[in-house]
Amino acid sequence: MSETTHQATKVECANCGAKNRVPAVAEGVPRCGKCGTPLRWVVDASDAEFEAVVDRSSLPVLVDVWAPWCGPCRMVSPALEKLAGELAGQLKLVKVNADDNPDVSRRFEVQAIPTLVLLDQGEVVDKQIGALPEHQLRSWVESKLPRRP
Ligand SMILES: [Zn+2]
Repeated sequence: MSETTHQATKVECANCGAKNRVPAVAEGVPRCGKCGTPLRWVVDASDAEFEAVVDRSSLPVLVDVWAPWCGPCRMVSPALEKLAGELAGQLKLVKVNADDNPDVSRRFEVQAIPTLVLLDQGEVVDKQIGALPEHQLRSWVESKLPRRP
């Protein structure tokens, strides 16, 4: 896979319903082309894309290290996507498949999945290992999320 093939995802605006294409890498916050509301930002990243998608992100990033065979991951991922919607414009959610991306797993010393890593400008803010119920995930993210002035 080429390092330059960052995917775009289609996201429906929570405010006006317009369909937007949201790139995996962008300056600032993705906004609805029609009404300007910040859009949910959820992308997949590989080892090769990680630096561009995560380390150089202008928004704080929540990395979800998961695998297709992991049952708890399948419970946590929808809750995280919902949170990413609630925190649109403040948080980018990046999903990394642990099986396919050993470099990311090594970097964050992932020994169990799901492992959630909250990063700000490439620095780890906090790490959460294992599944949590949605309300606990929300309070963890909200208490640790770096706020922009
Ligand atoms: Zn809109």
